[in-house]
Amino acid sequence: MIYRRKSPKRVLLVEPEYKLKYPPLGLMKISTYHKMRGDEVVFHKGTNASIRDQNWDTIYITTLFTFMWKSTIETIRFYQRNTTNTKDIRVGGILASLLQADVEAETGIRPHFGLWEKVDKLTPDYDLANGMYEYYRNNASFAYMTRGCPNRCSFCAVSKLEPEYVDFIPLRRQLSSNKKDLILLDNNVLASKDFSQIINEIKECGFARGAMYGNAHRVVDFNQGLDARLLTEEKMELLSQLPIDPLRIAFDDIKLKKLYTEKVRLAHRYGLKYLSNYVLFNYRDTPEDLYERLRINIELNAELGLSIFSFPMRYIPLDAKDRTYISTKWNSTQLRGVQCILHATRGVVGPRKPFFERAFGKTADEFKYIIEQPEETIFHRENMKPYQK
Ligand code: SF4
Repeated sequence: MIYRRKSPKRVLLVEPEYKLKYPPLGLMKISTYHKMRGDEVVFHKGTNASIRDQNWDTIYITTLFTFMWKSTIETIRFYQRNTTNTKDIRVGGILASLLQADVEAETGIRPHFGLWEKVDKLTPDYDLANGMYEYYRNNASFAYMTRGCPNRCSFCAVSKLEPEYVDFIPLRRQLSSNKKDLILLDNNVLASKDFSQIINEIKECGFARGAMYGNAHRVVDFNQGLDARLLTEEKMELLSQLPIDPLRIAFDDIKLKKLYTEKVRLAHRYGLKYLSNYVLFNYRDTPEDLYERLRINIELNAELGLSIFSFPMRYIPLDAKDRTYISTKWNSTQLRGVQCILHATRGVVGPRKPFFERAFGKTADEFKYIIEQPEETIFHRENMKPYQK
């Protein structure tokens, strides 16, 4: 139960100035929490002195990736210089949790660690950032139906941030009735012992396969990807009861090649045509192995008539304060080369073979050759020998 205050407070919510696809869900829930108490809430992205120097009771600053350290610390320091002497500045989020002691040493503020339980269950304030900033425009509710993950992959922060796996979180109160689609942010929904209950609740909330919102088809997206190791036929059958677009299956390790291709074939048998995956690189992989994982998707597309989009994700250690990390199996020229190609493709590897072969090469050797060329050559590589068309 949240009580309305007799004297409402003024609350400022801040997200540091970095480009993100989605508005900050944590702040959206904090906004709901304060608005339920009758408080005035203002959201701002980045720094602004005239906003900073107004009279605030509390300033909340969210944080995200550790490699955004510099701009995050600058933002916190900026708001600490407010002329109204607002002492109640609260910092939370992923960076602040993973580097709690470092943030405290730099700013004197001890950040909140992990989730804020009572706030996490609230409906996000979907109007918080409406039209104010350039977030990706979608028409979706955001929700979690589980928390945590029972696995402990060494490249992933989930087990640190959410150490307890929660098998089921009701969906209904997280939804906005004005949103067509549903984006689920679960880290590993397939690990839930209540998975069939999760699917049933999603359907009961109006997201069964074929469901409409006005004249448009509804879409469900398990945005963080599904764990191929847990994707049984029974679970695929349950998933196929939803309007999933895309189905995201992680393909982080070439050792999972057989399993991954089996699961893509299974998805195809259940009529799921639009697939997508995150492909981790610069971790324990080699450039050849990244190429092979991308190529497997291209071949599956051609063979099964699917549309698999891949999103290569460059590994950065969990405590890195910048993006300079290079694994022992890559070098800086190659990583820069991959970034150049991805820059041209907007970070996506599309499903069409001719395009893929032009961008990434016809073989792993060609790929290595391309990514080791100077930037200009990569951008204009249709003229490049020996791979001239
Ligand atoms: S399975 Fe996914 S969420 Fe779980 S620890 Fe591994 S990468 Fe993280």
